[in-house]
Amino acid sequence: MKTEVRAKTLQLNHFIGGEFSAGSSGQTFDTINPATNEVIATVALGTADDIDRAAKAARKAFETGPWPRMSIRERCDVLRKIGDIILAKREVLARAESMDAGKPISESLEGDIPRSAYNFHFFADYAQSVHEDLFSVGEYERHMAVREPLGVCGLITPWNLPLYLATWKIAPCLAMGNTCILKPAEWTPYTATLFAEIVQEAGLPKGVFNIVHGLGANGAGEALTRHPLVDSISFTGETSTGKAIMAAGAQTLKKLSFELGGKGANIVFADADLEDALSTSVRAAFRNQGEICLAGSRLFVEDKVYPDFVERLVEKVKQIKVGDPLDPKTQMGALISKEHLQKVEGYLEMGKKEGKLLTGGTRLAELPNGNFLTPSVFTDLPFNSRFCQEEIFGPALPVIPFKSEEEVINMTNSTPYGLSASVWSTDVDRCHRLSTKLRSGLVWVNCWFVRELRAPFGGQKSSGLGREGGRYSLDFFSQTKTITYKYKK
Ligand code: NAD
Repeated sequence: MKTEVRAKTLQLNHFIGGEFSAGSSGQTFDTINPATNEVIATVALGTADDIDRAAKAARKAFETGPWPRMSIRERCDVLRKIGDIILAKREVLARAESMDAGKPISESLEGDIPRSAYNFHFFADYAQSVHEDLFSVGEYERHMAVREPLGVCGLITPWNLPLYLATWKIAPCLAMGNTCILKPAEWTPYTATLFAEIVQEAGLPKGVFNIVHGLGANGAGEALTRHPLVDSISFTGETSTGKAIMAAGAQTLKKLSFELGGKGANIVFADADLEDALSTSVRAAFRNQGEICLAGSRLFVEDKVYPDFVERLVEKVKQIKVGDPLDPKTQMGALISKEHLQKVEGYLEMGKKEGKLLTGGTRLAELPNGNFLTPSVFTDLPFNSRFCQEEIFGPALPVIPFKSEEEVINMTNSTPYGLSASVWSTDVDRCHRLSTKLRSGLVWVNCWFVRELRAPFGGQKSSGLGREGGRYSLDFFSQTKTITYKYKK
């Protein structure tokens, strides 16, 4: 990442106290288009000073501003407006997201951006139904559990679903009356900056929403996790980063929510609807270039149907159209960075040594400047190899045969992760047995990535801490206070 200042390129600044501003150091870094490796924009490089300015602005807005004092209905009206403006700017946001993250424009247009708007529309409705408890002791004693905001919330997000995941945190955070500081991933700062213009347009009071761009460790991200005026951190990213944030946040006892890495599984039994299992497993493995925490990045297939299933799988994978993210026909775009491409290629080499590559794993000759990789399928890899245990976060799928339920449950549960798994079978009792025995925060039966925003979302084991979605998000972004009345008879 470079830090020189360039003339005439787009400049993405911090958004602090309702104003866009360059960093206190004057330093910048580049955000790069993964499809061309050309600079899209220079970005203000946040420092501990910038985080301090943002924390003070957010604290002031929390302590003395109107936002926490408004009725929930008034706050939700602003949230709804933000959702409406996101939809109105869908094309611009989708293009920016695809340029910055390398993802197909069809996914940004039909997936990421509408979902970002829906995050606001959903919480604008849902937050108004949030309940508070009342405990009566006889006729003259009442204990009220009143919900209050937390204060200033730090939100730290990854690059794979930039606006989608940022808004998934911002909407419930604001609904509960908090103020916040977003530290977007350094690889994808573009749509966050456009989003700041949207909150201005929607009339969100100054200081309620702030952005500081920059790096994680030793940068703006780490400074945010240590700042004494920040009450909580909601983080989505790698498991190792979660551990570092937990250690840093311990000094000021921050409330924490973590959505971390995954090594999802698709488990296909011989009695399943094999056509559906096949096409969904392909989508699960390669959607968003395989850069999804919920990716079905291991495919277990019952031995009776394994050879035929693998043959059909390879045919289907070969048909995936890899190419320019801005082409509407593209199904798989570019990996986020050269470094990430090389990391994924390292795993491919490992896979070739220990197992058998059936298709893919090559760069795109026609687009040599971008971080493109064709989708790959491997067999003959031990389930406990690094390839099958670690999160590759790229388009590389190992297929592993199994003989029994017990065997596949053990293999699925063998990784440190526990985010998601899909079970494919027409035997409901078997599906039930698996769904109870898999150590995973989400189990899909005969489907993948089917989401309901009221339902809890999050991982077991090293995949996370806490849950997001519906009341689970509202619970995280609020705290209860018990107020007791003792009336006179
Ligand atoms: P990352 O952990 O490298 O970075 C995520 C964010 O954390 C970035 O904004 C980064 O700047 C910041 N950061 C890094 N080090 C930090 C530190 N020491 N202190 C504070 N902030 C720090 O993750 P990534 O590479 O951007 O994203 C990919 C990872 O995210 C994968 O592991 C993926 O599975 C995970 N993910 C999980 C979910 C989920 O819901 N469970 C969703 C999407 C992505």
